[in-house]
Amino acid sequence: MNDSDICQNYIGGAFAAAGGETIAVENPATQTTLGHIPDSDVATVNRAVAAARAAQPAWEKLPAIERAGYLRQISARLRERVAEFADLIVREQGKVRALAEVEVNFTADYIDYMAEWARRIEGEVIESDRAGESIFLLRKPVGVVAGILPWNFPFFLIARKMAPALVTGNTVVIKPSEETPLNAYAFARLVAETGLPAGVFNLVGGRGASTGDSMCSHPDVGLITFTGSVATGSRIMATAAKNLTRVNLELGGKAPAIVLADADLDLAAKAICDSRTINTGQVCNCAERIYVEKSVAEPLAEKIAAHLKATRYGDPSAENELDMGPLINKAGLDKVVSMVEQAKADGATVVTGGSASDLGQGYHYLPTLLTDCRADMSIMRDEIFGPVLPMQTVDSLDEAIALANDSDYGLTSSIYTTNINAAMQAVHALQYGETYINRENFEAMQGFHAGRRKSGIGGADGKHGLYEFMETHVVYMQH
Ligand code: NAD
Repeated sequence: MNDSDICQNYIGGAFAAAGGETIAVENPATQTTLGHIPDSDVATVNRAVAAARAAQPAWEKLPAIERAGYLRQISARLRERVAEFADLIVREQGKVRALAEVEVNFTADYIDYMAEWARRIEGEVIESDRAGESIFLLRKPVGVVAGILPWNFPFFLIARKMAPALVTGNTVVIKPSEETPLNAYAFARLVAETGLPAGVFNLVGGRGASTGDSMCSHPDVGLITFTGSVATGSRIMATAAKNLTRVNLELGGKAPAIVLADADLDLAAKAICDSRTINTGQVCNCAERIYVEKSVAEPLAEKIAAHLKATRYGDPSAENELDMGPLINKAGLDKVVSMVEQAKADGATVVTGGSASDLGQGYHYLPTLLTDCRADMSIMRDEIFGPVLPMQTVDSLDEAIALANDSDYGLTSSIYTTNINAAMQAVHALQYGETYINRENFEAMQGFHAGRRKSGIGGADGKHGLYEFMETHVVYMQH
């Protein structure tokens, strides 16, 4: 391997080698090496934060509509190169091609959506108790935003961090996951082709414990916006506490899907399977556990099993017409294998699937339905992050809600019923950031994606997500 095989960090508008250790990036379907990135050290992170800090005041002074113009240059170029970026996502993340193309298009749409906020960043004027005084609330950028990304939607999540940060006048340093960094480096090369001022967008690659920790420890970072696991989120929050740096944490989930006896079972089975097999079950808001009323448990299980058996899986870098690719890596596959084996030992019944696939190479697991699950099993409590649906029967909506709420997680939830009163009862009782009624779990960019309990702090998307990138500055003016 020579230096030209290693991706170069993008800092202060220039590409530069980081030196030191490197990390190999693997195709999870073929287990072949796709490239290398630097494991950036503290000095490199310091340079990136310094570049972002130096660029921020001038960037903030630009009218928001001009900042939005730069964002639109990026989205326009992305739309011209959807196939190229999708291909990279397919190869390094194992996503099926159709979904990878959706991810790139959605990324461009998201950047445009956030650019539209340029004319809607609003302060407030408040009546004073004093005569001749005005009180203004101004919204100001936090300064330098550190964005730390997971691997499951590696491309879209760059935009979810970068676009709201930039339109509100911040500059960013992004660290992609070491599992899927190549698409982020390609994104940086695209950014470099636009006229975005140097230092506004910076990219550094590396491991969490080294590069990520250096970013979170840096006193000049105004906000850490992180998407990833609960364990890492908790570590980041502890690190951030040393400088009292603000955090925005989008963490794991264990989404309950409640199916009542009066539900449209065909719709429920399809929506639950779609939510579970998309991205091979590696989505934070995927349906992770089913609570079904006893009288319809059997027909629902039959319909779900039929969907799962029809799921086409394989190597997405070799085949186009697939529903599912591999899991991200060996650790991800080993985790799913061991959770299902434990569930079997605890008394769960395998209706379909229940083992790794026989494709010979790649980290594939069969789409799986488990019945006879109980609330005390790990498979009903811990995040699986694979194509496995565990099902438990319940006697009533109240029991389903109590079980759904008895969780460390609180990101998304869903209910399938034709009874509007039952749906509204669930909406009021479910302690979750999101509830989907009679549809698959997939959030909209104008909503607010936020978890309760250990699923996170703060949220993303829409107006409320945008304002997480801003501080409020109060002005009292006597006149
Ligand atoms: P992860 O926590 O292992 O890693 C995420 C990122 O954190 C990586 O870039 C990693 O390098 C970095 N990191 C690790 N240790 C660090 C440290 N000490 N300091 C700073 N950075 C550090 O998560 P993952 O395996 O990449 O992603 C899967 C998880 O992400 C799942 O739990 C999933 O539910 C969650 N997720 C949540 C959402 C959401 O919106 N709530 C979206 C996608 C994924």
